[in-house]
Amino acid sequence: MKTHTFTYVACTCGHRGAIVQTYDPTPPAGWYHAWLRDLSSGGGYEGIDELFAETKPSCPECGRSLTPQDVVGRSELNEDALLKLARR
Ligand SMILES: [Zn+2]
Repeated sequence: MKTHTFTYVACTCGHRGAIVQTYDPTPPAGWYHAWLRDLSSGGGYEGIDELFAETKPSCPECGRSLTPQDVVGRSELNEDALLKLARR
């Protein structure tokens, strides 16, 4: 079953977005993808946080580079939960 992990970030200008990680453990190889929602790529983060190092998020409003210090929350949803949300 696919799992989606949302890492919410808030810029100092007030803009909010999320880094979404989709993970599908279906054998043999499994599948993983990280993408940005309401955020731009091209940030300048260079540090030990793999998620930020990989996606290099930046704020689409003010261009600020986002870092793990801007994380405001995290949630995890599996496919079932997403389908339930879509049916509402
Ligand atoms: Zn901003």
